[in-house]
Amino acid sequence: MDPTLTLTQALLRRPSVTPEDAGCLDLLGERLSAAGFRCERLDRGGVSNLWATWGEGPETLAFAGHTDVVPTGPEDAWTHPPFSGHFDGEWLWGRGAADMKGSLAAMVCAAERLTRVPRRGRLAFLLTSDEEGPAQHGTRYLAEVLKERGELPTWAVIGEPSSSERLGDVIRVGRRGSLGGRLSIRGIQGHVAYPEKARNPIHDCLAPLAAVTAKRWDEGFGPFPPTSFQISNLHAGTGATNVIPGQLEADVNFRFNPSQTPEALAQQVDAELARAGVDFTADWQLSGPPFFTDGGPLIEATEAALERIAGVTCERSTGGGTSDGRFLAPLGTQVVELGPVNATIHQLNERVLASDLVVLSAVYEAIAAHLLPNR
Ligand SMILES: [Zn+2]
Repeated sequence: MDPTLTLTQALLRRPSVTPEDAGCLDLLGERLSAAGFRCERLDRGGVSNLWATWGEGPETLAFAGHTDVVPTGPEDAWTHPPFSGHFDGEWLWGRGAADMKGSLAAMVCAAERLTRVPRRGRLAFLLTSDEEGPAQHGTRYLAEVLKERGELPTWAVIGEPSSSERLGDVIRVGRRGSLGGRLSIRGIQGHVAYPEKARNPIHDCLAPLAAVTAKRWDEGFGPFPPTSFQISNLHAGTGATNVIPGQLEADVNFRFNPSQTPEALAQQVDAELARAGVDFTADWQLSGPPFFTDGGPLIEATEAALERIAGVTCERSTGGGTSDGRFLAPLGTQVVELGPVNATIHQLNERVLASDLVVLSAVYEAIAAHLLPNR
């Protein structure tokens, strides 16, 4: 069996449900140490973290990812037990096969080949056992430590399963930002039969909220879709049908691209309400800034490696949920996400094509060889 598959199987047999690492980082650390990496465990708050480096800067390429997996669901509903690492000759089965133990094995095996010759620049691994959970003590913490030391990677390849139909057809180059708002609109409670003695906050907010809901905020930005505004909750009313309520709460959310700033978006909603004479307060919270790696050597190396080795022209995407790229990219690290097909992630019977992992390892190797050439 190819070394990438053997290593994936060994990781799959460790039941590392968040925040458990179940010995995955010990195993990967041993392999990296044997390849000449300096390994440092930066465990914190019950989360296992590994920072490993090989070679000398000034530029650093980090392979980044997580050893933790989401729960299996009912184990007897799986065709093969989720922590058995079953290989049927074509597919490797198990929780984490695609998200993302296969990627980690492909990266470590690539590093073992890359470190056979001296290179310009530094190769690193940034690994955690808490990506699927609260993600407080994982990459977020590692990024803080590295920033303090002035050791942040120049480039990071995150092994998240980015591919859609076939290996490498999609790479992730950014994520939209998320801005939440709680609007509290004040009225005056009263009897529905005497509206002149009351002030209805539902009526007050209908027109301005309709206006911001219908608004076209922008036309998108590069590979980002247009910014969207959504109302996720409207709450008013006393329960009685003959009472005008005195108060309304609205929860709203922006998913925005980098052509927008959260301040400007919030300000436009506030201004619309103010123009309509609404008596309100707004509490805006930025839950994640957008990030975007717009071209540059990392993206170019990734696209070239996929063309040459996987024979695929990839799409640059900014879709999907969150990833640990949100902790690295805003600090200045160029980030790309590249990993296996995501069709079965978080599902029963998660599995990955074994041949894809072998190709993925060669692609990772080619990206690194391009950015960190032989000396
Ligand atoms: Zn993942």
